Amino acid sequence: MKRCFVLFLSLLLIGCQAAPAPDVFAAPSPSPVPFCVVLDCGHGGFDGGAVGVDTGVVEADLNLSIGLLVRDALKRRGVSVRLTRADGNALGETKRADMQARGAILESPDADCTVSIHMNKFSDRSVAGPMAFYQAGAEAGQRLAAAVIDKLCDALGKPRRLPNPADNFVTRVPTAPSVLVECGFLSNAADERNLQDPDYQVLLAEAIADGVLAFLCAQTENLSDGTSLLPADVVK
Ligand SMILES: [Zn+2]
Repeated sequence: MKRCFVLFLSLLLIGCQAAPAPDVFAAPSPSPVPFCVVLDCGHGGFDGGAVGVDTGVVEADLNLSIGLLVRDALKRRGVSVRLTRADGNALGETKRADMQARGAILESPDADCTVSIHMNKFSDRSVAGPMAFYQAGAEAGQRLAAAVIDKLCDALGKPRRLPNPADNFVTRVPTAPSVLVECGFLSNAADERNLQDPDYQVLLAEAIADGVLAFLCAQTENLSDGTSLLPADVVK
């Protein structure tokens, strides 16, 4: 549990806006351990996911493109990233095998949070824009999803929307706070076009990374109030 203490010390290195705590920061710092985010690019291989109505674009490919941009954006912010997949392949030969392998990565015990990247689709083609889902009842997951959807809406110049509770494999399985990001609707003409635009993909990825980092920093700031989530072996 000393890792939490190390994370606290590493705030200075990753640019969190924490209140100063001179006594702590004056202490000799052990090697900083960055936040660790498990990043899941949804679908892959035999499982392409949703298909764009107008262009036939495959969701799995967009998930990978945007996911890799999120990885890069998080790394630039000093965050360590573990991907579920870094290429077009699935994680197993069957859906069951894929979910088993994906679930094992999502359960990584050292993950500070998990982020799954997907694209949405709906019968009403007017429905558009990003959404963020958290596991119903998970307070930290809700804060993570709120931070991400806030940054996404701000980046796109859209009114903010609330995160949505749900019960999905990718938010149910992780022990760390988790969010499922639906970047846009492949059933909406403008979204489908935008989601294939490299500049738009970068915009989304940077916003997702900003949201994740805002959540992680807020979590860690709670450690500095003295009452604290600090484990006993650190407080001693
Ligand atoms: Zn999907």
